[in-house]
Amino acid sequence: MWDPSHLGNLGAMTSASAPEIHLNGVRYRWPDRPVVVVCNDGGDPAYIDRALRDGLLPNVARFMRTGFNAVAQCIIPSFTCPNNVSIVTGSPPSIHGISGNFYLEPDTGKAVVMTGPELMRSTTILAEFSRNGAKVASVTAKDKLRQQLGKDMNIAAGSINFSSEKADKCSKRENGIENVLELVGMPLPDMYSAELSLFVLEAGIKLLQTERPLLMYLSLTDYIQHTYAPGEPEANQYYCDMDARLGRLHDLGAVVGLIADHGMCDKSNPDGSRKIVWLQDALDLELGKSSTTVICPITDYFVAHHGSLGSFVRVYCHGRTTPEAVMKLARKLPGIEAVYDKTTAAHRFDLPIDREGDVVVISDAGTCIGTTPSAHNLSALDGHALRTHGGIAESRVPFILNYPLNETYAARAARSDLKNFHIFDFAINGIAT
Ligand SMILES: [Zn+2]
Repeated sequence: MWDPSHLGNLGAMTSASAPEIHLNGVRYRWPDRPVVVVCNDGGDPAYIDRALRDGLLPNVARFMRTGFNAVAQCIIPSFTCPNNVSIVTGSPPSIHGISGNFYLEPDTGKAVVMTGPELMRSTTILAEFSRNGAKVASVTAKDKLRQQLGKDMNIAAGSINFSSEKADKCSKRENGIENVLELVGMPLPDMYSAELSLFVLEAGIKLLQTERPLLMYLSLTDYIQHTYAPGEPEANQYYCDMDARLGRLHDLGAVVGLIADHGMCDKSNPDGSRKIVWLQDALDLELGKSSTTVICPITDYFVAHHGSLGSFVRVYCHGRTTPEAVMKLARKLPGIEAVYDKTTAAHRFDLPIDREGDVVVISDAGTCIGTTPSAHNLSALDGHALRTHGGIAESRVPFILNYPLNETYAARAARSDLKNFHIFDFAINGIAT
């Protein structure tokens, strides 16, 4: 069971002596036990539903029964970077600035990755706690997220920030920890494997046992969800393995929050072929070449499992091309669920307007959007169905806590509008003690 002496001097601050943390309009109390938030990347509620039906999740089933369980909404675009940054800042992209994995820089017109911490307009909950004397830890599967999740974190004072992808390259100075492979007791996992996520969870368990961070964020990878449907043996095995590790985090006395950055949908026709709208081709044909640029903000350096095809794209108009012309055309294409101009998209989805395209195009649950076939390499899918995300159809995520909510937060949850980025608020302030 949880022994408060494990928290050491920093965690042992009483609520009277500990500072309160304020960030983006939320007051966070000083937790009296460690808080661990697990972001199961792409963990659509359908996976948990199916694995529960198959009797594979004894720990999650118990959390749902005796703690708190809801389905929450994620940020749209339902991509990894915007949602992970929302979770660690407790805010929407209109505040923190990260609205995709990839965007067209307005000043230069160049398409650039959005993984730099310098693009973030907010610090993080983890950083604020670490700045006020707590030891905190962030472990992510993909190294691309590491710098944003670790923004402003006080590594010199003992906080920890690393990825399982580069767990063999950790240093005290950069990551606050070294010899991670020895600590975790696993070999360096493959980039495209369930082990990349299981490594993060094992690292979280070992850190809780040895380093005892007060707050910990464990961000997994969506490889399994991109590759396997709910109920497939590989998916069920992964959820079973995850459940066992969530149980160990609970047994170590932590408040455990399970969330996802986004859901996941199959984008196949009934005959197994892929249902893709080639939007750049369609716009070029109707409006002329070079009249628009379509940006797929799912793009990053880690694309083999989705070929940069997602359900949300941004269109930039050039010359005399108007947003209205693009919107009129996009609305006629089969499989398109919603089309918005810049202002409407930014307002509706709480996005930073200065980083928005002229037009946003969102596909339905069964369809994804690409630019032109030659720009998307799908060979690495290796015969698997194309499963991806980004749109409204992939915005439902599980929101599970291993302890019940206090009255105030139960009332808040009942009013609905629960977002995945409320998880730290609920896990820190909302637990009945
Ligand atoms: Zn993701």
